[in-house]
Amino acid sequence: MSRRYKVLALVGDGIAHEIVPEALKVLEAVQAAYGFDLEVIGPYEFGAKYYADHDMMEGWDPTVTRELLFEADCWFKGPVGLPEYLNRLPGPYLPINQRLDMDVYANVRPCRLRPGVDSVLVGREPGDIDYIVLRENTEHMYVRAGGQLSRGGETELAVDNYIQTRKGCERIIRYGYELARSGDYKGKVGAPVDGKKRLTCAAKWGICRGDNLFKAVCEELEPGYPDVETDYAWIDAWSYWAIMRPGYYDVAVMPNQYGDIMSDMSGAIQGSMGMAGSINAGDRHCYAEPTHGSAPDIAGRGIANPTSMILSVGMMLNWPGDKRRDNRLKDAWRGIDAAVDRVLAARSVRTPDLGGADSTAEFGDAVVEALDSP
Ligand code: NAD
Repeated sequence: MSRRYKVLALVGDGIAHEIVPEALKVLEAVQAAYGFDLEVIGPYEFGAKYYADHDMMEGWDPTVTRELLFEADCWFKGPVGLPEYLNRLPGPYLPINQRLDMDVYANVRPCRLRPGVDSVLVGREPGDIDYIVLRENTEHMYVRAGGQLSRGGETELAVDNYIQTRKGCERIIRYGYELARSGDYKGKVGAPVDGKKRLTCAAKWGICRGDNLFKAVCEELEPGYPDVETDYAWIDAWSYWAIMRPGYYDVAVMPNQYGDIMSDMSGAIQGSMGMAGSINAGDRHCYAEPTHGSAPDIAGRGIANPTSMILSVGMMLNWPGDKRRDNRLKDAWRGIDAAVDRVLAARSVRTPDLGGADSTAEFGDAVVEALDSP
């Protein structure tokens, strides 16, 4: 009998309440189209507001146990957090802690200019931009190794330690080479400008010791991937070149915080934050979430672009597809990706961030309608 995949759905804050239902619609439709079975668990509330309104010191919601996260074949969440709850919630609610807890070391954040989307960069056409920011997800400034000195109730000094390990560098750089080889999550294999598979290692060596190690490990691994061109860029220069010649890039691997920042910049490069999907992937677990946050400035109006969430759940299916060698799931990722492109290319349904006047739900419905069977 064919395996039934367990997928857990978590909602989050702000626009999560609007975009998660659209991803659920697409998951429902894609099962029928591609002939596999998902057991969708949830959606459960998972946001800062929900926990603040309940007994937030209890830790996890009793339904959403840590075991449930670990048992699922994969899971997804809408963005979590609202500015008014910053630093007021206990640890388990922070996405960063899940990344460490589940050891999902690869944050895959594609940047692709899709058909029907106008670029913020002059003269760029769909197909000209198609790269992945591959962000290391478990080290660097975000491991919260540090402390602070307070006197008389006033914080006088705060220290964050920048951690980079050989193991951490090695596994993310290998992941980057494999991504460049497979072309997964991209429109086409290779860089748009010349079709070459290329791994760009971007960090700030010569200044940060962790980044010296990151580059050194990449240099050690480079000879093992002769079919992929290796390119090195200081991260500050990369932020310039990504705008000036985005088509040169294929997969750009970088330490955690740089990847966080560069992937938001890449949200703009692909036309809107609402286009920016992502997965957090490790060797044993994977979960999907958009690159962006809860967008409190537009929440509750039904106008958020659900593309980011829809593309994220598509990417999420690819992960168990690889793990279980189930091509139906890999095809479903491609199918969702292509359906989004068809809707955007038609320019008939689009949310306000892309210059349209349609709602989140109307866009989700259009994607469902555009889904083909393989
Ligand atoms: P944001 O990413 O929520 O918003 C930045 C801009 O992008 C806003 O103008 C917003 O309207 C727009 N935008 C984002 N998603 C969109 C979509 N789908 N459609 C159309 N426009 C969209 O960044 P922020 O305002 O700095 O953060 C808000 C909250 O989200 C903060 O509390 C932050 O901590 C949290 N956050 C959570 C995550 C996560 O859960 N992984 C990531 C980043 C920020």
